[in-house]
Amino acid sequence: MDRPPLAARLGLVVIAALMMTFIGWASIAEVQEIARGEGKIIPVSKTQIVQSSEAGIVQEIAVTIGQTVSKGDLILQLDDGDPAVRHQGTIGGSIANNDPAADYPAGLLALAATIHTNRREIAADDFFTGLFSTALDEGEIITAVSFEAPEACGYAKFPNPASRYAMTGVFVSKGGGAVRVAVTGAGSDGVFRHEGLEQALSKDWSAAAVDGVKISADGLMSDIHCDAAYRANLIRAMAKRALA
Ligand SMILES: Cc1cc2nc3c(=O)[nH]c(=O)nc-3n(C[C@H](O)[C@H](O)[C@H](O)COP(=O)(O)OP(=O)(O)OC[C@H]3O[C@@H](n4cnc5c(N)ncnc54)[C@H](O)[C@@H]3O)c2cc1C
Repeated sequence: MDRPPLAARLGLVVIAALMMTFIGWASIAEVQEIARGEGKIIPVSKTQIVQSSEAGIVQEIAVTIGQTVSKGDLILQLDDGDPAVRHQGTIGGSIANNDPAADYPAGLLALAATIHTNRREIAADDFFTGLFSTALDEGEIITAVSFEAPEACGYAKFPNPASRYAMTGVFVSKGGGAVRVAVTGAGSDGVFRHEGLEQALSKDWSAAAVDGVKISADGLMSDIHCDAAYRANLIRAMAKRALA
């Protein structure tokens, strides 16, 4: 029988030697794998859910992935509620919702604004009809609001530290020979005009005039944040700030 040519025999020897070398290297070498791909990171142990007890938008994340944190370290910074409202809410949505602690209803009521809808015009005095209710009919859409520029006006609110909603807010306005004062966040029936403050400020448009006004707690809200008497005091304090 003929033997294979020398070149073929040498080739087989080289291949066998390479295989032996590879097997030897594979049995002692430490292999590091790097795989790139898309997917989710799902931590399975020692995870801690971080939730805000207050509403708000994340302003800054103060940690990086994999960083070890200790009790008390700042993890993230939230914006206050108000910027979220200013940047994302609409006046139409706010007044149609007529939340008893919302800001815009007080502004529109004190400015004697007109609410324009796709069907008619409604005076602010007739628009806000109670907690979360308005004069809007089914399917009626607010298209604009308008008001005369006042000679003077001001708004001050005592914000809830968590949501920034008004625990009490007072909007004062003077114009066209009339003074109007609207209070939000305090009334158990929603935004309302304060007759006593309007009369006093019609005579004397000053913070000092507020001191002489009797501000009753009747009809004001009591809730987990504060009671009606506290809100009555806030009406006085916010009216003075609005006039300052
Ligand atoms: C964290 C947080 C903090 C907040 N803080 C404040 C605050 O400090 N002060 C404050 O005033 N409010 C505050 N809000 C409430 C906020 O103002 C209102 O939710 C917002 O203004 C609603 O506006 P929107 O355009 O998002 O209305 P949407 O939420 O879209 O609508 C509200 C309601 O109004 C109706 N609606 C909307 N647009 C119209 C329209 N043009 N015509 C008729 N109906 C309409 C909708 O059908 C819905 O029933 C806060 C809300 C959040 C979430």
